[in-house]
Formats: sequence, structure tokens, C-alpha cells
Amino acid sequence: MFEALAERLQQVFRGLGRHGKLRPEDVDAALNEIRLALLDADVHYQVVDDLLERVRSRALSEEVSRALNPGQQVIRILHAGLVEALGEPGRLSLKGPTPRPVLLVGLQGSGKTTTAAKLARWLRSRGERVAMIAADPYRPAAGQQLALLGSEIHVPVFHQPGLSATEACAAGLEAAAKGGASVVLIDSAGRSQLDDEMMAEVEAITQRVQPVETLLVADAMTGQEAVHVADGFKARVRLTGLILTKMDGDARGGAAISMRSVTGVPIKFIGTGEARDALEPFEPERLATRILGMGDVVGLIEKAQEAFDQGEAQAAAERLMKGDFSLEDFGEQLAQVRKMGPVAQILEMMPGGLAGAARHVDGEAADRQLRRTQAILSSMTRDERRSPDVLNGSRKRRIAAGSGTSVQEVNQLLRQYQQMRKLYKQVGKRGLGGLGLLPR
Ligand code: GDP
Ligand code: MG
Repeated sequence: MFEALAERLQQVFRGLGRHGKLRPEDVDAALNEIRLALLDADVHYQVVDDLLERVRSRALSEEVSRALNPGQQVIRILHAGLVEALGEPGRLSLKGPTPRPVLLVGLQGSGKTTTAAKLARWLRSRGERVAMIAADPYRPAAGQQLALLGSEIHVPVFHQPGLSATEACAAGLEAAAKGGASVVLIDSAGRSQLDDEMMAEVEAITQRVQPVETLLVADAMTGQEAVHVADGFKARVRLTGLILTKMDGDARGGAAISMRSVTGVPIKFIGTGEARDALEPFEPERLATRILGMGDVVGLIEKAQEAFDQGEAQAAAERLMKGDFSLEDFGEQLAQVRKMGPVAQILEMMPGGLAGAARHVDGEAADRQLRRTQAILSSMTRDERRSPDVLNGSRKRRIAAGSGTSVQEVNQLLRQYQQMRKLYKQVGKRGLGGLGLLPR
């Protein structure tokens, strides 16, 4: 999903990452690229303008973060802007006397029937007793499709060819009441485009059954067209929510960003595939993350910033610059890493290739290793950590015994530390900006 968009955005962020600070000209250059990428993904231009205006003023007014590089900082701000544009997570409001009618409307092919079945499963898993009504009097096959899906998931379907849509709804509700259903999903008839007859029918059903929810099912792959359809429906019926289907396709996808801003109707679910369980309650945070195409890099960035103690790091950075990196600093860095969470989780949150690598890493072993390393460090005296050169054979044996490890492991740790010190010395000569993730 959103792959093309995500890729373009990543390129923008990479460009930003090379400089040391967020300068207005860098922000503007990045925002121009982001604008083009969003317009290409078929996001409504007005929505793009509003979003970028907010991102720009935040990016320029925010204090330059010492924990994040400029690319990461813009990602965080853009992510927050996207979350705002996507709106609150919409929840179903199922109140009133049972059975509670939930009406699904939308164009033909948008995914209404498929979504009805997915939603039925989802509601049932939350303890609802669900029934469905086929309310498409024009295409008998449509009713059969729903009946078949219903039998596969063991949800009763009212399907009686020959009845008008409103008659089917009334009779179906009655049957559902007798059957003890708490929620009834109504699969209405769609048309290939917005037309008056379809709207009139939806209005008639609404009057007859007074649905507690009227959900527009819209095909996210159609981009702006989906926004146009939502506007058309909204003019005639009181939509209480949107379900965006086919969010698994990577084409366009800008509809998701525009839908909420343009229509004001909350997105309640997204469909992510043809399978029966490919329906997710809409989570703006998660979707914004996917749009940026960065695994949960945003979560990672947030954690990094939380874990980052500015004062501590500043002092350590100054020592590093002088090539004066003690085992104490080494230990502190390990502690920072551990504050971010289990190793596997950290890798999982990395973009693209690294997220894949997480599968090949034994996270538990890595965490165990980290814990052992910390045990060794805490078995040393403060002086030993500050001047590791004093560590002779007998001290090493004492440390190994104290930490429940071996002299071999203590030596291994010392080798790692020496390598790291060498690295920092080199970096120190060139400036810390050389390492993207380190404090500047
Ligand atoms: P309706 O005419 O609105 O009832 O649409 P259908 O439920 O019959 O769905 C039309 C087509 O879209 C079917 O081939 C579905 O399998 C497919 N479809 C529905 N939802 C999704 C989705 O979230 N992802 C994908 N990839 N396909 C979907
Ligand atoms: Mg259908």
C-alpha cells in the first residue's frame, strides 16, 4: 500500500538527513517534493496545501532536536500532520433497541458485499449476534453471493428474490428479531455511478429501518473519485462512517488522506484484501506510518527521543570528541539502547530491508547478550570502567566470577569497546554529524 508514495517520501528524507540543521531552504525544498508526491498519489490539492502549511510552520518553529536528525524531524512532523488529516479513529456506535440495523451503501464493485461478511465476522468476534439482509432487488446473483458468504461464516442471511429493497429490509429485520440478532447488516444495491434512483432507494431504506449506522463503502483505489462519491452520498443521506476498501492495492491511495478532510465523515474501517479477515478498525497512527512507508520508524524515533537524556548525552558527546570514550560511556550507550525495547522490536520498527532482517535475528539471544554485557560492566569498579587499562588477569577473573560470565567474555567485551573507541576517535576528527543517529 502506498508504495510509490512512500518511496518518493523516503528519498526526500534521505536528502534532508545530510545536513546538520533544519534550515528554511531545506524544509521548503523537502516540502515541495512532498507536495508533488502527495499530488501524484491523488490527494486532494486543498488537503495537501493545508497539511503542508501546518508541517512547514511546525518544522520552522520547533526547536532543533538534538536526538533526531533533520530527516527524522520532518518525518515526525509530517506524521503528526497526516494523523490529524486522517482524523480520529472512528468507532461504530451500536445503540438502541435490537436488532440494530447497519446499512452499507456504495457503488457497485466498491466491496459492499465482501465487507458485509468481513464486518459480520468482526462484530461476532466482539460478542454480537449478527444477521445480514440482501437488499439488492436487481441482481439476484448479488443476493446469492451474500447468502454464500453467510453460510461460509455461519451468519444467517435474509435473501428473498422478488421483494423490493425496502420490503426485503423490513422482512429481514423481522426475521432477524425472531432469530435473536443484535446487529443486522444490510447489503444495499449499488450502481456503476452516482444516480438518482440509487439515492432514492437508500433514502427509502433509511426511512423504513432507521439504521444506527450508515456506512459508505468506497474503493480507495479510485482516488479522487471515491471522494466525489462520498460527497454525493453525503448530500442525500446522513453518513455515519466510511469504510475504505482495497487499501492493499498500491495504486494511488491518496483517497484515504483526502476522505476525512473533504467529507468530514470519520473513517471507521479499512479493507486490506479479499480474504474474510482482511478488515481492520481504522487507526490513523498506523495508517500514517504506512503512508510514510517506514515500518514503525516513527515509533522508533519517538522512543529514541524519550530514551535520550540530553544532559548525559551532551557530556558523553564532548568526551567522545576528545577521543576520551570510557567503558562507562559504553555502558551508558548500551543502557540507552535497552531503554528502546527488545532488540527484535527495535529492528522490527526499521524501514524496508532492516524490518526483514529482524526475522533472521534471534532477538532473545541478542537481549541475553546485552544483559550479560551489562552484568560484566556492573561488576567492575568505577575506576576500572573509567580507565580500563588497569584490567589485568586477576581483575578480569574477579569480574567474570562476579557477573556469572567467563574471562573470555570479559575479553570479548573489551575488544568491542576498543573497536568502538577507535571508531569514535575517527568520527571525532570529522565531526559527529558524520554519524546520522548520534547527538550533534
Ligand atoms: P459490491 O459490488 O460493492 O458488493 O462489491 P463486492 O463485495 O462484490 O467486491 C467487488 C470486488 O472487490 C470483489 O472481487 C472483492 O473480492 C474485491 N474486494 C473487496 N474488498 C477488497 C479489499 O479490501 N481488497 C481487495 N484487494 N479486494 C477487495
Ligand atoms: Mg454486492
